[in-house]
Amino acid sequence: MNSGELKLRLLLVGLRVDFDALARCSYKSDKHFHNDRHVVSPWNINRIPQEIILKCGRESICVSVLIRPQSRYLLTKDADGLCIKEGATRIDVAVALPPEPLFWSETTRDGISVSDILSLPGLNELSLWTWHDCALQRRGKGCAFCRTTHTAARFGRLTGSPLLNSALVESLVAKGEFFPWHYDRLLARANDCISAALRLDFGDSPYWFTVISGALRHEFADFQNELFARLIADLLRLNPGLDRERVVTNSMIPNSPAMFRYVRTNGAAYYAANMELWSDEARRAMCPGKAERERDKIVEMVCEAASVFGAGKVWCNFVCGLEPLNAQLEAYDALGRYGVACGANVFHKDPGVEVDFHPSVTEEKVLNYYKQAAKLLRKHGLCPCYSQESRRSSLLWEAYHGLI
Ligand code: SF4
Repeated sequence: MNSGELKLRLLLVGLRVDFDALARCSYKSDKHFHNDRHVVSPWNINRIPQEIILKCGRESICVSVLIRPQSRYLLTKDADGLCIKEGATRIDVAVALPPEPLFWSETTRDGISVSDILSLPGLNELSLWTWHDCALQRRGKGCAFCRTTHTAARFGRLTGSPLLNSALVESLVAKGEFFPWHYDRLLARANDCISAALRLDFGDSPYWFTVISGALRHEFADFQNELFARLIADLLRLNPGLDRERVVTNSMIPNSPAMFRYVRTNGAAYYAANMELWSDEARRAMCPGKAERERDKIVEMVCEAASVFGAGKVWCNFVCGLEPLNAQLEAYDALGRYGVACGANVFHKDPGVEVDFHPSVTEEKVLNYYKQAAKLLRKHGLCPCYSQESRRSSLLWEAYHGLI
């Protein structure tokens, strides 16, 4: 088994963790719930990173760990070090835990923990969460596969981010009161976090920077884009160490096409607009909040984004495993010809989520799906964007590089 194949199996089957053997690997921080949603032990005693690293020659493959007590794979430690075992057999792929980011122990100047605001999904992508919760979910129209509220409740806390929450944003925008006071405080805290991360964890190495949040209702989508654009412009101005070519905005698709140019001009190099599902049937059933906007309109806007950001600079993500896989391959082709690079994360069943994999999904079909998807990206001259090391629950880079 190579590291790509092992990653596929861990994504589909999950992993058991030998917490006793790994006790000394625990992370110190206990605040970063967006980064450790699946990895706290049932007794809440030991913590391990959300990701594990599989070594493949000089490359590192990152896998988001989904703890499933029934999994046949066990993460443990033996005399030769950290390893994964299947029954009594040690799998011949080198395993490592990523180091806990140093910036997680820092606070902003007004005492907010940086780990509550910045996460490091994968190995080289800083994500600034302006708010964690989702307004579509609060209205009872959230995606059936995404349960941020349940995850937070597991930690005995609300979904609120110390920066903002979606209800506050919507009410301030509706009253025309968001700028400047709330913005100035948001920027000050965000800037403290970014400078801590740049100072402590990255040095000269390249990284990606994404501004992201939960969704707002569609009528507020333009505001979300405007807010992210302003934040990016200011953070770039205040932090010359940020790499301008690696700045991503991950947002609701705006209502006004002119918003793309505004976002681009303010400094975002990539635009990520996640559709999650392609078929109308699955969208209505699993993602009713997003399905309020017709698919054709979304497609039109995503293609418009590609005309502004450039081919390969717009990313549209799907959830692999919730609808027949062929449906999503249609999207790779339909959007790829306009320069939009599609991708997919293998579905992760969060606590509280009732839906499971689509009955048609098997290991072999997922494997084939990613191979076909990589082929379609090549056909349109695109590569899986953006960061190879942060696509921890996707196999697109592995398929693209022929590792699976
Ligand atoms: S719209 Fe996004 S944040 Fe909201 S429930 Fe769906 S996947 Fe989660």
